[in-house]
Amino acid sequence: MNRKKSPILWIIIPCYNEESVLPITSELFLKELQELISKEKISKESRILFVNDGSKDKTWEIITDLSKSDNHYIGISQSRNRGHQNAVLAGLMEAKDKADITISIDCDGQDDISAMESMVDEYHNGCEVVYGVRSKRDTDTFFKRFTAESFYKLLNSLGAEVVYNHADYRLISCRVLQEFAKFKEVNLFLRGMVPLVGFKSTSVYYERHERIAGESHYPLSKMLHLAFDGITSLSVKPLQMITMFGCFVAVLSFIGVIWAIVSSFLGKTVAGWASMTCIICFVSGIQLICLGVIGNYVGKIYMEVKHRPRYIISERTWEEQDDE
Ligand code: UDP
Ligand code: MG
Repeated sequence: MNRKKSPILWIIIPCYNEESVLPITSELFLKELQELISKEKISKESRILFVNDGSKDKTWEIITDLSKSDNHYIGISQSRNRGHQNAVLAGLMEAKDKADITISIDCDGQDDISAMESMVDEYHNGCEVVYGVRSKRDTDTFFKRFTAESFYKLLNSLGAEVVYNHADYRLISCRVLQEFAKFKEVNLFLRGMVPLVGFKSTSVYYERHERIAGESHYPLSKMLHLAFDGITSLSVKPLQMITMFGCFVAVLSFIGVIWAIVSSFLGKTVAGWASMTCIICFVSGIQLICLGVIGNYVGKIYMEVKHRPRYIISERTWEEQDDE
């Protein structure tokens, strides 16, 4: 595979209700793109692709205006809000046949845009995937830092391979995207799926800043959801763990039964109401938890067999030739 000296880069930026931040960061993205073009690290044909994720504010209007103001800006719009992961995927799939490399990044300016140059350099050094990794989390609250770090540890201990402190800021070559497109699952957890594709990869470190404007769309409930999605999409260990746990409880119960029989033979059978109630509550609680975990996997299978589209693009800022 011969590499182009100046590959076409598409920067993929998911946007959901970002009218307050987009006018500021769009200029920063363009500046970075033009700098890379002037250094001949990427082609003049490179683009900044905004993926509007069904925003309810003026985000799409801003994107269409941007696309008229400079031809480096382009945009697609999802037919409704589908979430960050699906928006990034829509952008990547749009880019895979048109670009040579892609960099996905959030539109709020939290991730250091200047790290893109090192990412492109690593591509020129032969890497197909370059992960953007936060070197510090000083600007995050203690709670966010703690929950995020525990999450990475938990995922790795469950056997899912994720890069520590890496979110969705990464360079992926379109060669990798062609292979990635064959991963058809609808439950998306991109940062766990990309390492599964393989190819030569490396990390680039950057500092994460505060959001430039607007507010986070990831409250605790969405974070927990993403975390749980990550675990159940990448690992079946929880199923094995509940089996082990079930065995453990069964052994305990067996000891309990022997104890009960022996006690009754020895004539020590007291009312026993309390212990009985405790055991029933405990065992039924465990059973419900286990059923819940299994149920989650069954739910995922249900969603997968439906094979619904993972994104639907309703508009583009450019005319598409009907070669799809
Ligand atoms: N986003 C999206 N769809 C959503 C929620 C968020 O496309 O349903 C985008 C959002 O516009 C931003 C990125 O995903 O570019 C990350 O979201 P945010 O900054 O709110 O999350 P945080 O950085 O706080 O985890
Ligand atoms: Mg953010």
